[in-house]
Amino acid sequence: MAGQGSRVLLDGLWTRAQLAGNPSDHVVTRPYSKPADLTLPARLVPVSGQAEVPADLRGVIRRVHVPAGAKVLALTFDLCERASNRTGYRTEIVNFLRGKGVAATFFAGGKWMRSHPEQTMQLMADPLFELGNHSWTHANLALTDEFETRDQVLWTQAQYELLREELARRARERGLGAEMAAVPASMSVFRLPYGRNSPETLERLAAMGLPVIQWDVLGEGGTGTARDMALRAAGEVRPGSIVLMHANAVPRHTHEIVPFFVDELLRRGWRFVTVSALLAMGRAETVQDGYFERPGDNRQFDTGYPGKGSLHPVPGSDSGKVPK
Ligand SMILES: [Zn+2]
Repeated sequence: MAGQGSRVLLDGLWTRAQLAGNPSDHVVTRPYSKPADLTLPARLVPVSGQAEVPADLRGVIRRVHVPAGAKVLALTFDLCERASNRTGYRTEIVNFLRGKGVAATFFAGGKWMRSHPEQTMQLMADPLFELGNHSWTHANLALTDEFETRDQVLWTQAQYELLREELARRARERGLGAEMAAVPASMSVFRLPYGRNSPETLERLAAMGLPVIQWDVLGEGGTGTARDMALRAAGEVRPGSIVLMHANAVPRHTHEIVPFFVDELLRRGWRFVTVSALLAMGRAETVQDGYFERPGDNRQFDTGYPGKGSLHPVPGSDSGKVPK
């Protein structure tokens, strides 16, 4: 289970200062401030395949029914990045979780992984954390066709493999090759960008072996101070909850919310596990749409998409909207 593994790989390949990161890590470039990056990944088809998703994990998973009274939840962070920008990384969130020994799952875009290779490999090497797939360029999978959906998902699986191979190369150089046994060969969970999907999308993701993991608690929602938001979210957590947050600078205050949220739940006796560990503890509660709070509440993300949806909103059409 996450949290009980060895930090040998992490501490053997990076110094404390490197893991601590820099204030500039979270800098976000504005969409369309530079030409969109539509270049393909260096590998288009992953080497490792996944078995089809079993029947009990099909649909959109919002939480897991764990044994009554089990104070266990999964904290998840999305690392969203579209073709049109670079979104950075909130190192202080990751450092806080490491300091507390708190497990989490990070749903990373494939293009984000490519533009943040060191951070991706650090997450991979850390036994506390799990990486999941968040599509190549934050595609709206309610709008993509069969082929575009497949590219968005498999390019991201392939990018993970490329960085895992680089991590393995560095590990071997330091005599730490055996530690790679603890790093999964591929990602085994998926999160829908914007929470958007269609019935066909769910079938395609199931065929590619990726259970769809959304949430039952919005960890960054509401108004007030960071502490207010954290305590409200902490009050909504139930046994087996999945909590949505972001670890790049998309919602700007997450790094302030996380310490209040985690400390409050630890104080109340809750335990944090990765999504995969949570899925192994009980029965998944599934729905058919990846909404935020109510079915249909994310349909506004269907407007402004040219073509089939793997590109990004045209300039001016998405001002003020926050990608999830
Ligand atoms: Zn996202």
